[in-house]
Amino acid sequence: MGHRDEHFWTRGSADKSNVLVEQLKQYGVIKTKKVAEVMEIIDRGLFVPDGNSAYIDSPMPIGYNATISAPHMHGTCLELLKEHLQPGMHALDVGSGTGYLTACFAMMVGPQGRAVGVEHIPELVASSIENVKRSAAASLLNGGSLSLHVADGRQGWPEQAPYDAIHVGAAAAEIPQPLLDQLKAGGRMVIPVGSFFQDLQVVDKKLDGSISIRSETSVRYVPLTSREAQLQGF
Ligand code: SAH
Repeated sequence: MGHRDEHFWTRGSADKSNVLVEQLKQYGVIKTKKVAEVMEIIDRGLFVPDGNSAYIDSPMPIGYNATISAPHMHGTCLELLKEHLQPGMHALDVGSGTGYLTACFAMMVGPQGRAVGVEHIPELVASSIENVKRSAAASLLNGGSLSLHVADGRQGWPEQAPYDAIHVGAAAAEIPQPLLDQLKAGGRMVIPVGSFFQDLQVVDKKLDGSISIRSETSVRYVPLTSREAQLQGF
C-alpha cells in the first residue's frame, strides 16, 4: 500500500466520498457536476454494513442474498437518468436495497419531487430507512418526498406514477409490463435485462407513447425475483 493509499484511509468520510467521486470522474463514469455533487453529498459509508469498504469501487454483500451495487454502477445509472431527475420530477427505484440510490434520486428531484424506493425484503427496507435518516436526505424522508416501501417491485408503485425516471437494481428476464405502464411519456427507465449475461437497457418512452430500447453495457446484478426464490440457501 503506497503513501497515497494510507493518506486515503486516514481521511474523514466526507473526504473519502470526494476521493471516490474524483476516481469515478477520472474513469469517465461521472461526467457532470450534478452527479458528482449528489454522490459526494450522499455518503456511501452510511449505507454499507462495513463502512471501511464503502469507498472501494466494488459491489458488497448486504445480506439476504443481495448486494449494494458498485459505485461505478450507481454513477452510470445517475448519469443515464439525470435529465429525468430534475427538481419536481418523480422517480422510482425498484430493488432499493440499502436506499443509496433512492437517497440520491431524492436529493436530485428535491422536496417538490417524489423519490420512491420499493424493496421486497422487509429487513432491508427497515435498515435503508435508518441509513437515509443518518444521511443528507433525512429531511426529505421526514418531509415525505422520499419514501421506502416493502413490496414486490415487479408491480412498480402505482401511487406516485407516472414516473419520469425508473431505476431497476435487479435483473429481470424481461421488462415487467407494470413498470413500462408506470413510465411517463418522455420518461426513461434503466434496467438490467437477462439471466446470467445481462444488458443494462435504457428504455425511453417517447411523447407519442412508443418505446425505444438500447443496451448501454453488460452487467451482473442479482435477479429480480420472488422473495422465496431470493432467500433460498440464505
Ligand atoms: N440498488 C440497491 C440494491 C441492489 S441489489 C443498492 O445499491 O443498494 C437488488 C435488490 O433488489 C435486492 O435488495 C433485492 O432484495 C431486491 N429485489 C429483488 N427482487 C425484487 C422484487 N421482486 N421486488 C423488490 N425488490 C426486489
